[in-house]
Amino acid sequence: MTVVIGRIYTKTSPLLFLNLFQNLKILSRIQEILNSIQDDKIKNMEILKNEPLSKHTFYGVGGLADELWKVDDAESFAEVWAETQAKKIPFLILGKGSNLLCSDAGFRGRVFSLEFKKITWNAPSLFRKEGAGGRFVTVEAGKPWQEFVEETNKKGYEDLCNLSGIPGNFGGFVRGNAGAFGLETGDFVQTVEFLDSNGKRKIFTKEQCEFGYRESIFKHHPEYCILRATLQLKQKAEPDQSLQKTRTLLADRWKKYPPGKSGGSFFKNPSPARGDVLSETEEPHEKLFAGKLLEEAGAKGDQIGHAQISERHANFIVNLEGKATQENILALARKWKQKVHEKFGITLEPEIMILDEYGKKIQV
Ligand SMILES: Cc1cc2nc3c(=O)[nH]c(=O)nc-3n(C[C@H](O)[C@H](O)[C@H](O)COP(=O)(O)OP(=O)(O)OC[C@H]3O[C@@H](n4cnc5c(N)ncnc54)[C@H](O)[C@@H]3O)c2cc1C
Repeated sequence: MTVVIGRIYTKTSPLLFLNLFQNLKILSRIQEILNSIQDDKIKNMEILKNEPLSKHTFYGVGGLADELWKVDDAESFAEVWAETQAKKIPFLILGKGSNLLCSDAGFRGRVFSLEFKKITWNAPSLFRKEGAGGRFVTVEAGKPWQEFVEETNKKGYEDLCNLSGIPGNFGGFVRGNAGAFGLETGDFVQTVEFLDSNGKRKIFTKEQCEFGYRESIFKHHPEYCILRATLQLKQKAEPDQSLQKTRTLLADRWKKYPPGKSGGSFFKNPSPARGDVLSETEEPHEKLFAGKLLEEAGAKGDQIGHAQISERHANFIVNLEGKATQENILALARKWKQKVHEKFGITLEPEIMILDEYGKKIQV
């Protein structure tokens, strides 16, 4: 009997052919099982095709993403994360979308919406400093920040009250070292656990995270995905009172935010330490506010398309009626960055993450 395998012709017995046939059947069964395991892993993650990013960002701007993966398990994500980078598929991690300005053309790759949100109190850690005191809490990246703050209040801690009302998820807070009133997320961080580009889990201590004003090492390594971090809390308080304080601050903060869709402060406050030139009249260490500089340059109320510099706060560029495009917002930001530079000799840097359709950072 002649068996044809690809382009190889061999003479063989019917018995051998039967063996070969059975082996092929076994192989194909193994492949089926492997595929189903792979499918199961992917099934754990809902994948939305052609999903509008405008639905997932506070700005309400952004075209269709090819794929938006809802990741609700930190452990099984490593393989997909590594595979995405090995295949050079463009990727973007999405937290709450409160600090992102996405492309009008959408996203040509995978957007990973991190939705794992467990909180563990006093988890064992190799990295804890002896005698550090206080209480340790480990939080997963997808936990909404406000919910987390309220949980710490209920456990009898008030350390995070002053960071109440800032939108975002825990992972986004750690990455951008979000803060207010002189407090920053990094002040409380002990360790951060993340995936590297090969899907390997790694841990950085606080010092290795290189926290600075709206800065951390993770901002410079988009190939890292923050899974969770451990914070140390020290200020004990009556749960009811601290919860009350948190909720009052939340309400106050939202009253002060300019109305309309935005991504929060568009530019970082410039700091003389970063090499910005001060005018002769200013004290060398006087704090500079981007909003004040923009206001003095005359930015308030200016409009391009449906993007407007807020009448209430010059460092907020708002999306009027939800109809602004990334292009409108960028044009307005570039115009006023230039004017501030002409007037004060200071170069403003965006605080917001501005991305093209392949996930590359766009310069303002
Ligand atoms: C009205 C308003 C007011 C604001 N006020 C303040 C304020 O007072 N202080 C302040 O600091 N900020 C403020 N912000 C900005 C925003 O709240 C913070 O930057 C917040 O931490 C962003 O979190 P997020 O989950 O929304 O991140 P996203 O906007 O979803 O993402 C921001 C960036 O972080 C990356 N990222 C998110 N999660 C991870 C992760 N797990 N691993 C790696 N990368 C990740 C994303 O890829 C993206 O590049 C404000 C925003 C708004 C809209």
